[in-house]
Amino acid sequence: MTDDMDRAQKLDGFDRDVALANARARIAAAQSPRDTSIDGICIDCAQPIEPARLAALRGTTSRCADCASQFEQRVRMGR
Ligand SMILES: [Zn+2]
Repeated sequence: MTDDMDRAQKLDGFDRDVALANARARIAAAQSPRDTSIDGICIDCAQPIEPARLAALRGTTSRCADCASQFEQRVRMGR
């Protein structure tokens, strides 16, 4: 009996947490880099990524324009 109550309360709490986490994730994705390892430095050449590029891609890129196009070419060629 009390176990059922506990389970229901935990479920409510879990659902609420999930809803909150989803909302927070949506806001975070819209406002800030998704990947916290992205600090505006290109992971390939260690040069600062162009601020305009970072802003346009909402900080979701970890490569500068040059390295990104090279990377995309590698991906397109199937590595
Ligand atoms: Zn680069």
